[in-house]
Order: sequence, then structure tokens, then C-alpha cells
Amino acid sequence: FSQLAREDPEVAQVLLDELTRLRGGLQLIASENLASPAVLAALGSTLTDKYAEGYPGRRYYGGCEVVDRAEQLAIDRAKALFKADHANVQPHSGASANLAAYAALLQPGDTVLAMALRHGGHLTHGSPVNFSGRWFDVASYGVRRDTELIDYDEVRELALRHRPKMIICGATSYPRLIDYSVFRGIADEIGAWLLVDAAHTIGLMAGEAIPSAVPYADVVTFTTHKTLRGPRGGGLLCTAELAQRVDRAVFPFTQGGPLMHVIAAKAVAFGEAMRPIFRRYAASVVENAAALCEALAAEGMRPVSGGTDTHLALIDLRGVGVTGAEAERRCAAAGITLNRNVIPYDPEPPTVTSGVRIGTACVTTQGMGVGEMKEIASLMTYAVHNPGAITSVLQRVKGLTVTHPAYPRDE
Ligand code: PLP
Repeated sequence: FSQLAREDPEVAQVLLDELTRLRGGLQLIASENLASPAVLAALGSTLTDKYAEGYPGRRYYGGCEVVDRAEQLAIDRAKALFKADHANVQPHSGASANLAAYAALLQPGDTVLAMALRHGGHLTHGSPVNFSGRWFDVASYGVRRDTELIDYDEVRELALRHRPKMIICGATSYPRLIDYSVFRGIADEIGAWLLVDAAHTIGLMAGEAIPSAVPYADVVTFTTHKTLRGPRGGGLLCTAELAQRVDRAVFPFTQGGPLMHVIAAKAVAFGEAMRPIFRRYAASVVENAAALCEALAAEGMRPVSGGTDTHLALIDLRGVGVTGAEAERRCAAAGITLNRNVIPYDPEPPTVTSGVRIGTACVTTQGMGVGEMKEIASLMTYAVHNPGAITSVLQRVKGLTVTHPAYPRDE
């Protein structure tokens, strides 16, 4: 870092300011985490210099024998961690992994059945502003109005009506477990592929805090930077039968040279996720999310579907008369970072929303537990009800960040 500070003080200052921001507040964005110093070390390495189009042992460039070892480690560890026949660790992001999954299994114009964006699906699940909605015919399912849970009857009915070639499950803001066996049954009934987008929950699957999608899905796509706590990136797991189609869909169909420094960092993250301590982490993430939900519910902030089984929750703020956008602003002023989010059947537009999404992956990495979740709920309550920063709240947020620091200074 001292070299960067000498060479480019402007950029060095950005890095320092971001570290200060992370250390000074509570990060409740459900899709974020704090990567370990070992992951960061791999990311900031000379492996960024190497071109390595192709796959280990089958490259289109010379000099790949060293980086091959990084990719093979990442592949072997991902396969062992998730008990998968095949792993592709090259996608640059979750969206790139999904693009590759579509490319592996479908032709443009094919029909896909996926969760609606406004009910928790991702842009890559058929939004008209995304390749998925532009190049494919999309039918969408949602959650029931009464339970706010996936309506499996509707999924089956839509599947029988539209006969999609691929069904997608897995979401961006769905707090509950997904019954993969029901999706598998529906896909089998109509001869469709089943893609599980585990971008959010893959770390919880790795830590066995929730059931794995691997035994049910034809392809599982994931990100490495959310609950898995690795570098920013994506990946795919699939059956042996689909291995070649998936590999070709990533390279050369949708990507060029892989990011070897990121792949080395993915190998580090998979290695970390194989340790018993990660299992305790994943269990604690889920336990903390449930505790946070319960404490917020007691303050009149209703968790959508009544709670959570995962690392994230959607909080309906209509009971306290504050919009998601306003709550996001008020929490930010108190040092609590979270995002506004539409809730199912939200009367407000996405820029306003009736809810916020929260997640416990970061604060759990910082070593916080159920006691701290109660404190966070109390701080959120103060913040949501009060525009403008409140000194006492800022001080209590600081207290939590001092006792449970992000990136402790001795690391
Ligand atoms: N799929 C789901 C369900 C997601 O929630 C996300 C990101 O939030 C993605 C895919 C895309 O991941 P990325 O932002 O790495 O492209």
C-alpha cells in the first residue's frame, strides 16, 4: 500500500476512505461481505498479468503452467465443497454465469420460466432491460399474496401452460428456503432444464446451513462475493453430462481471457469455506438474520413472509409509515448501510418502495451474534423514525464497530 500511496495518492486515498467507511458503519446490504486478507492478497497478485484463454492443460497461450495450478485448485475445491460433478470457475460475475447457463442450455427465442423481478427474481431472470428478457420468451411466477411464499401451484400451472425449456429458481430478495425437489419434479414433468441461481445462498449451502441445490439442479450458478465471502466473481456447477456445454458456453462463447488473480482468490475462498469455522459462520449468519427479524418485528417493522430462513430479510415498513427510500436515507445518516427494496405486491415504484432488504453476512463476519442483532434492531428503529443523524445512535453504531471491527487493524 505504501507504494500505491507514493505512486498514486489519489487512488490510495480512495482505498483508505473506503476502508474507513467499512470500519465506521454497519453494512447490512444482503449481497455484500468482507473478504479475508488472504482473498485480498490473491486478488492483488501478479496473476492479473497472465492471459490464459482455455482451461487448465488446454490453453491458447504459453506460460500457463503456473496459473493452471490456481484454476485446478479452484475447480477441485469447488467440486469437493459442493459435491458437484463439474465446476467452472471462470465467470466474471453472477450475471456472466447466468448468461453462460442460458447459452449452454438454450437457443434465442426459447421459453424460460423464472421468478418475477418485483417478487424477488434477478434482472437476468427475464427482465426486459436485460439480455434474458430481450432474447428469450419469459413467463414469470411470483409469491402468494397471503403467505408471501413461492406459489408452487402457480409455478406448475405456468410450466404446463408455457412449456418452458428452462425453469429458474433462486432469487435476489426471497428470504425463505426454496423447495428444489418440487421445482425438479415440475421440470421433469415437462422435460425442462432446472437452473438454480444460488448467487445469494451459495455460502449458506457451502456451510450446510441450508440444503444444497446441487442434487436437484442441472446447473447451479453462483457468485463468490456474497455469502461465500470470496472475491467478486461467479461460477457454475453442473452434472458431468453438461460439463462440456457449460465450459464452451463460458469460453469461448461469452467470455475471453479468465481473470486468473480472481480465480486464485476463488480457490482461497473455497478453501476457507471447507473449514469447520465456516460452517459455524454460515449457521450464525442464519441465526442472526432470524434474530434481527424478530427484534424488528417487535418494533412494528414486519418481515415479509413472517421471517427468514437465510441470511436476508425483506422488511415491510408500511406499519411505521416510512418508505424504503426514506428509511435507506435515514439509516445511512446513522451509519447503517442497507438498500430499499420492493416488497411483493408493493404499491410503490422501485425508486421509492415500501421496504428495505437487510442481510447479516457482513456483521457476522465481524463476529457479531444474537445480542448485537438486538442492538442493531434498536438502532434501526431509532434511525427509521428520525430524519437526520442522532448523536446517541451514531455513538452506539460506533460502539459496535469498535468491539466488532471490519478488517481489524492487526490483519
Ligand atoms: N443472480 C442473483 C440471484 C443475484 O442476486 C445477483 C446479484 O445480486 C446476480 C445473479 C448477479 O450477480 P453479479 O452482480 O455478480 O453479476
